[in-house]
Amino acid sequence: MSDLYLKFVNTPVGKTAAQSLGLPSPVTLKRQQRADQPFIEGDVLIGAGPGAKAVATVGGILSASPASLYHASGIESLNDSAKAGNKAKALELAQLADRRFSALVFDATGLKSPDDLRAVYDFFHPTIKKLGGNARVLVIGQNPASCRKAPQAAAQQALEGFVRSVGKEIGKKGSTANLIWMAPGAEKQLDSSVRFFLSPRSAYVSGQVVRIGKSSIAPTTNPVAPLTGKVALVTGASRGIGAAIAETLARDGATVIGLDIPPAMAELQKVMDSVNGKAMACDITDQAAPKLIGDFIEEHCEGVDLVIHNAGITRDKTLGNMPEHFWDMTIAVNLSAEELIDEELTHRSLLRENGRIVCISSISGIAGNFGQTNYSTAKSGVIGYVEAMAKQLKNGVTINAIAPGFIETQMTAAMPITIREAGRRMNSLSQGGLPVDVAEAIAWYCSPASSGVNGNVVRVCGQSLIGK
Ligand code: NAD
Repeated sequence: MSDLYLKFVNTPVGKTAAQSLGLPSPVTLKRQQRADQPFIEGDVLIGAGPGAKAVATVGGILSASPASLYHASGIESLNDSAKAGNKAKALELAQLADRRFSALVFDATGLKSPDDLRAVYDFFHPTIKKLGGNARVLVIGQNPASCRKAPQAAAQQALEGFVRSVGKEIGKKGSTANLIWMAPGAEKQLDSSVRFFLSPRSAYVSGQVVRIGKSSIAPTTNPVAPLTGKVALVTGASRGIGAAIAETLARDGATVIGLDIPPAMAELQKVMDSVNGKAMACDITDQAAPKLIGDFIEEHCEGVDLVIHNAGITRDKTLGNMPEHFWDMTIAVNLSAEELIDEELTHRSLLRENGRIVCISSISGIAGNFGQTNYSTAKSGVIGYVEAMAKQLKNGVTINAIAPGFIETQMTAAMPITIREAGRRMNSLSQGGLPVDVAEAIAWYCSPASSGVNGNVVRVCGQSLIGK
């Protein structure tokens, strides 16, 4: 399904027409072109508030990119590894007048009181207008849940409101703003998340907060093919988001087992042929499905590392008009099946050490949606499931959820045109996302370097106005 309006406003005639009529002018988002593409290029400015703890680590991560790195004046805490070999230059902001930054990164981990928030203003106020198009704002703070004192928790929580508002201000240029809340001492776990949020892979992720915890697993990884040697199970892989997940995980080195209902076998086989994967016909709501999936994995791969619960359905009706089978099917596919499959794989020790489970929720599961009580209930349940399981899983296994907003697939193509157009435009980027946007976020969760990312729900929705 293509967004003809987006194409039109990106022509000279369309741009002029949209401007004169006061219509939204979404820009074409830059996405990842090649697996080995650098995660960021151009000029990046880093700043830090008092007592910053992550700035040296972030400087080190950025020094592995071709970006030219500048530090706002007053930052003395760069360690040797960040200084060595990088292109850091201490510059006065006044000297940066003619630059257009591809990213502004601010370390707010040391903020201890509302007064300290002034450092956020001091960094962003003179620089935000120097942000180019398709640019990134990334703030790193400390998880308020780990703050012992209320003023510190207040300052750290305040960053969420800041980032969400900045995202709304810069979205019209295709730029995004996100926040990482780091647990104390989790600097080593920042790598995959800093790379993701600064890269074109997060093109449709804005206004999000991700919590990163400590992990004993070393984050060393192969940035071009981080999933080499991993086996991924992707449900609903014959089309839409599921097909994009299969392609993206395979691009990153994983062997994919794609699963879909028997009538979708021809389509699934095509996708699996293109990624050199294995196709499995299965309705995940069949009573025997968990056992059959376990048997298939045992027979073909002995075990699985990544389980992506993507299969989903909608059966929309207002509650009073909803037949009971609409309710039952929607809960079964979107929620119950995931739990039963995970239980089987864990019970039979088929989910390997340091495995990853990713569930697909929806912004409907966060905000609710007219005519979708069944779907919203199921997708909200997914969030509850992920948050509970994140505390229970062992052996380095993590579980996270993605809550997509409006993504251009057959599911959204089936919507009535007015609802479809509203869903597309009512977000900071004024456009729908692509299946690959969801897939890229899943690949970030799946990276071996993301062992500290657990129990999160990240929306891939262009900062939809629906929900919080
Ligand atoms: P889609 O309808 O294009 O694809 C869903 C896939 O799941 C299909 O291949 C379908 O055959 C498969 N499936 C359905 N029931 C199944 C079952 N019982 N057993 C096995 N496979 C089954 O949908 P999509 O837009 O690609 O959505 C993928 C996921 O993202 C779903 O969980 C959906 O709820 C979620 N989501 C999508 C959007 C969006 O805008 N497209 C928004 C929010 C959430």
